[in-house]
Amino acid sequence: MPYIFAPPQNASLPIAGTESRFPVRRVFCVGRNYAEHAREMGALAQADGREPPFFFMKPGDAIVSGDGELKVAYPPQTTNLHHEVEMVVALAAGGANIAPAAALQSVFGYTVGLDLTRRDLQGKAKEKGHPWDMGKGFDQSAVAGVIRPVDQIGHPDSGRIWLSINGEVRQDGDLSDMMWKVADIIANLSASVSLAAGDLIYTGTPAGVGPIERGDLLTAAVDGVAQLTVRVS
Ligand code: MN
Repeated sequence: MPYIFAPPQNASLPIAGTESRFPVRRVFCVGRNYAEHAREMGALAQADGREPPFFFMKPGDAIVSGDGELKVAYPPQTTNLHHEVEMVVALAAGGANIAPAAALQSVFGYTVGLDLTRRDLQGKAKEKGHPWDMGKGFDQSAVAGVIRPVDQIGHPDSGRIWLSINGEVRQDGDLSDMMWKVADIIANLSASVSLAAGDLIYTGTPAGVGPIERGDLLTAAVDGVAQLTVRVS
């Protein structure tokens, strides 16, 4: 049966060491997964340092990817666009109610990404108890680098994660400070939705989030995993 118009193509990410690409299904994001960032957002972690992880989503076509200098247009309806550097998990399998001990078997690879955020819209939504979607899930809001497969780098659980603007370091953290580790994130998320091949999970950002201006050159990296650069116009 014909479609009334051509169905949209999935966004996709390059993969290190192959011409094949990773087709994106859904983009999940973890909120407040580093204690210092939770504090800077005014959301103090509990005394034990851990509340249950919570999730939000971006559309699959919000992805900006490639292996050269990426380009993002400053989005509408904001005067406070923020950067959040995050490690991104790329799934090649899924399922529901995945046990933490089995969760890493679903992972194809990892990269670095930016969870771009219209912080002013997110703040207004929080005040009113409205959804975060327009603060988080806008066009070009999910920047992602080249995927490094697990068979090249294993499962990184420590190492520097950082972001600079025009050469000045603004975020500088370590993966070991993630309150919820990748296996726990997958297990928790799979209790709410059935995960699938092509899903990406942005795993939260360390402290130091802040505004981006038009013309800025952002460099973001998870050392030993991936690095990306993006020019904002
Ligand atoms: Mn984030």
